[in-house]
Amino acid sequence: MNRNQFFKITALGAVGVSMLPSLSFTTLQSFTKEQLTGRGNPDLIGDSYRSTMHRQTKEAFQKMRSAAATENIELEVVSAYRSFDRQKQIFEGKYKRFTNQGLSPMEAIDKIVEYSTIPGTSRHHWGTDLDLIDGNAPRSENVLQAEHFHGNGPFCKMKAWMDEHANEFGFYEVYTDNGNRKGFAYEPWHFSFAPVSIPMLKEYKKLNVKEILMEESVLGAEHFTDTFIEKYRNENILDINPELLS
Ligand SMILES: [Zn+2]
Repeated sequence: MNRNQFFKITALGAVGVSMLPSLSFTTLQSFTKEQLTGRGNPDLIGDSYRSTMHRQTKEAFQKMRSAAATENIELEVVSAYRSFDRQKQIFEGKYKRFTNQGLSPMEAIDKIVEYSTIPGTSRHHWGTDLDLIDGNAPRSENVLQAEHFHGNGPFCKMKAWMDEHANEFGFYEVYTDNGNRKGFAYEPWHFSFAPVSIPMLKEYKKLNVKEILMEESVLGAEHFTDTFIEKYRNENILDINPELLS
């Protein structure tokens, strides 16, 4: 080996090593279209809609739950992973109901997306997003309401704890209380595990939502206009907590 070759090799070696710490595991992952749309994900573990999560999300959640427990807060999952088929069932049930009530297909779709997602577009498909309440607090029938997390609401203590500590475990509120934000309303219960969901969203943005709805024969899919899909993408999918965008 001549001096020049030696220099090249050690320089490369040095670059390789110095880059390693800054390469987070997230950049090393890739995701299939199926994983991104709730149609099969080998990284999921759990056996119910409350316990099934992406494996790294689950590990981080368990750590966060233990930490919260020391403050007498029981982080209870109301909803974790949701499959494409389950979301399709919810969507089509509402679509049938609203169109039977006399709404046009487009009116029905507009009404559904006030509170529900279009199948294939839910962050719950990823196994990285969790709806959480405090299992130690008294509860009413409809637990996922913003007022329960503010004022004298039962989940205020949990909300304050999450505001202070969730980020330490990689979890971020998705649909924040920001009056300028469009898309889904404020959801103080919905948290996302950023180290996995950020790269998933990056990949997700490359998918064609309308194509997925057509290939899965979702009821009403033919009524989704390009303008509607574009607006839904910009507002409901991308107008979220900016910390979850990059
Ligand atoms: Zn949610």
